[in-house]
Amino acid sequence: MRMILVGPPGAGKGTQAARLVHSLGIPHISSGDMLRAAVKEGTEMGLQADGFMKAGKLVPDDVVIGMILDRIARPDAAGGFMLDGFPRTIPQAAALSDAMTSAGYALDRVLLIEVPDELIIERGVGRRNDPVTGRIYHVTFDPPPAEIADRLVHRKDDTAAAITERLGYYHAWTAPIVPIYDAQGLLRRVDGVGTPAQVTARITAALGA
Ligand code: AMP
Repeated sequence: MRMILVGPPGAGKGTQAARLVHSLGIPHISSGDMLRAAVKEGTEMGLQADGFMKAGKLVPDDVVIGMILDRIARPDAAGGFMLDGFPRTIPQAAALSDAMTSAGYALDRVLLIEVPDELIIERGVGRRNDPVTGRIYHVTFDPPPAEIADRLVHRKDDTAAAITERLGYYHAWTAPIVPIYDAQGLLRRVDGVGTPAQVTARITAALGA
């Protein structure tokens, strides 16, 4: 299965990908995770991306496109992948489509996780990431166990200001890719409001359909 998860920041893409990839047996490829790793390692790409990310802005297309096309060409993605956070612009979607056509395969599904804007900031500011397991918690909606609370990370771009900025970019640049995939018959819409388990059940049903 070759699929894309689309949705506003905080829709639950990362949470759902982590819950789904194991049963699907495909790698979870998150552009945001890859960029954060590059920033942490201090690579040239990381240095380029850092300022954009902290401000909640999009990293330039050429940087992200090169990174993802290299990643999906690796052997573990030969049988399928779940992209999370990419494509985020029409040029990114076009580059992905061209690369896949040249490689002789096609996308199977695009899953849109829908969450109203009013919920996004509340979800984002309370989000905490576990760097050890990759699991994502929320201080109120999905509280972490006390014994791991100290190691959790609050992303630098999960402030109300940066989330508002990212939401603006989502509506301006990412939402326009949705009708393209809809016209290709690839799109499935899933309600992202509810517990992670409820949303996983809806996604599993939508993927089966
Ligand atoms: P995410 O973890 O998906 O919320 O991504 C965190 C940040 O990484 C975004 O706010 C952007 O600054 C950057 N980023 C991740 N994916 C992309 C992408 N496909 N295009 C441009 N910037 C991206």
